[in-house]
Amino acid sequence: MIRRYQNLINGKWVDAQSGKTYENRNPANWDELIGLFPKSGKEDVDEAVKAARAAFEKWRLVPAPKRGDIMRKVGDILVDRKMEIAREMTREMGKVLSETMGDVQEGIDTAYYAASEGRRLFGRTVPSELPDKFAMAIRVPIGVAGIITPWNFPMAIPTWKIFPAVLSGNTVVFKPATDTPKTALTLVEIMMEAGIPEGVVNLVFGGGSEVGNAIVEHPDVDLISFTGSTSVGKQLSRNASETLKRVSLELGGKNAQIVMDDADLDLALDGIIWGAFGTTGQRCTATSRLILHEKIYDKFMTMLVDRTTKLKIGDGLLPGTEVGPCVNESQRKTVQSYVEIGQREGATLVAGGSIASGNGLGKGWFYEPTVFVNVTPTMRIAKEEIFGPVLSILRTRSLEESISLMNDTVYGLSSSIYTSDVNKAFVAIRDIKAGITYINVPTIGAEAHLPFGGVKQTGNGHREGGWTVYDFFTEWKAVYIDYSGKFQRAQIDNY
Ligand code: NAD
Repeated sequence: MIRRYQNLINGKWVDAQSGKTYENRNPANWDELIGLFPKSGKEDVDEAVKAARAAFEKWRLVPAPKRGDIMRKVGDILVDRKMEIAREMTREMGKVLSETMGDVQEGIDTAYYAASEGRRLFGRTVPSELPDKFAMAIRVPIGVAGIITPWNFPMAIPTWKIFPAVLSGNTVVFKPATDTPKTALTLVEIMMEAGIPEGVVNLVFGGGSEVGNAIVEHPDVDLISFTGSTSVGKQLSRNASETLKRVSLELGGKNAQIVMDDADLDLALDGIIWGAFGTTGQRCTATSRLILHEKIYDKFMTMLVDRTTKLKIGDGLLPGTEVGPCVNESQRKTVQSYVEIGQREGATLVAGGSIASGNGLGKGWFYEPTVFVNVTPTMRIAKEEIFGPVLSILRTRSLEESISLMNDTVYGLSSSIYTSDVNKAFVAIRDIKAGITYINVPTIGAEAHLPFGGVKQTGNGHREGGWTVYDFFTEWKAVYIDYSGKFQRAQIDNY
């Protein structure tokens, strides 16, 4: 029996108005159909925005601590259902079970953070220049938030956006990635179960250029929170400018790990294996460049190639699997094409470089963890985001050269340096141009309560996570209260 799922609009489960659906399949076994999901269009977005707009007028008046109580319940339900959701997520997008459990855990952490923020949402009071006058700035909700997300963190990324949006008093129209509709549906079901009123969170499935763009261009959507590729982010930003929306963009990366000659090499090896091949390299923070000091180059490369070729590729639900499949056929083709580009450019393969086709892998989008040496900084494999299990090695002679190579990219999301010299660590913290710098930690592993985002073409200056995301989802309102009983004029009466 094939399950057919629906959109959620104004608290009701409904088909796309076109009646069309699309298939969602397991990337580790394409014979396994997870379900049929609505192939929605602009007309469905219009209905969802109408519902969100109407719900906003009531939701904005619910006290923030009460909104926080609902977020706490969402967190509790996620805790109870963590394993089941993680298994479902692995089936849907392929990453190994321990990672999908981590993905749900980020949602849990974000829910509890939002619950506590309901009792903060701090404003400011400041003195007025005039006697008997009070001045303050308060946060107010903005309106309808369009939430557009990628497939690589199907639970965590939507929660980073939706929880602070609704906690702040906004309502939501949510379009998840087409590859991960089931996890999105589960999240929204849980929010309804926890007590989110009808119309506050609306879910519309479908493609980016149809559903996503209809949300972006809709005159009644006030803000857009988008995570995805830099190319789509640029297009989206142009399209949103017609209605002058507030837009938060979290985009691509070309992250690097530096290993200095004084580093603990075993630690650095664990870091690079996890950073480069965790989530099959499909993280915005994945390590796709390794900048290796020449004094430890040969020794470290022997260790790296040995570990890389032993990684166990397979279905993420099976115990012992370390690397799952690429998310879909097109992503694997992209990986394959970059491997060919690397070879044409003159880089040398020292591990992987092929479709993985061993036992049990024949019906999934698997690719071998791949390592290139003899890479120069101008090669495309050293410059462009691949979003797969491909690591390029660059040789370096000094800290200055390492940091210069690190910064030689249009992106600026995550960065890492392994060194036992505290002076070098602090120079790196100062000089690396990235939103996140890790010392003796791989480029992946952000915690939910710290600012998350990048510089340069990784974004447009906003941050998710922790307290910083609440700046995006609220508007500052300045308030003046004159209790003098007189007509007082600022600037003129005061000086
Ligand atoms: P993508 O840009 O192809 O799609 C992201 C979302 O945008 C999807 O829901 C898609 O349907 C939608 N979309 C596509 N075209 C659209 C349009 N014209 N208008 C509106 N919406 C549109 O990205 P992806 O393949 O899903 O995800 C991988 C990318 O996401 C990588 O580049 C990765 O680095 C990036 N990413 C960034 C972060 C971050 O926080 N910086 C986190 C995760 C992933």
